[in-house]
Amino acid sequence: MPINLNKIETCYLCGTPLSVPISKDHVPLLQIYAKEIRKMQNLNLLKFPVHDDCNKNFQHDEDYFVHTLFPLGKNSKSGESLLKENFTKRVSR
Ligand SMILES: [Zn+2]
Repeated sequence: MPINLNKIETCYLCGTPLSVPISKDHVPLLQIYAKEIRKMQNLNLLKFPVHDDCNKNFQHDEDYFVHTLFPLGKNSKSGESLLKENFTKRVSR
């Protein structure tokens, strides 16, 4: 049975009822796909409604997760693209 994202009433990040302001959170994480890959593929990721504060508060956890694991994918097209994209960001700062 498909998920009706318009009928979701609970923030999956904190488990409490949704209330404004609400934002959308990509599932799985958007940032595990390099922009190059996202341009080549229609990923059609799910976007779950979440509290805006929850979305912002979990951002550092997502960043940590991705930056810890992306070097492990260096032998794949997706992993190489992600490594190149993140290395380029760090060098240009
Ligand atoms: Zn929440």
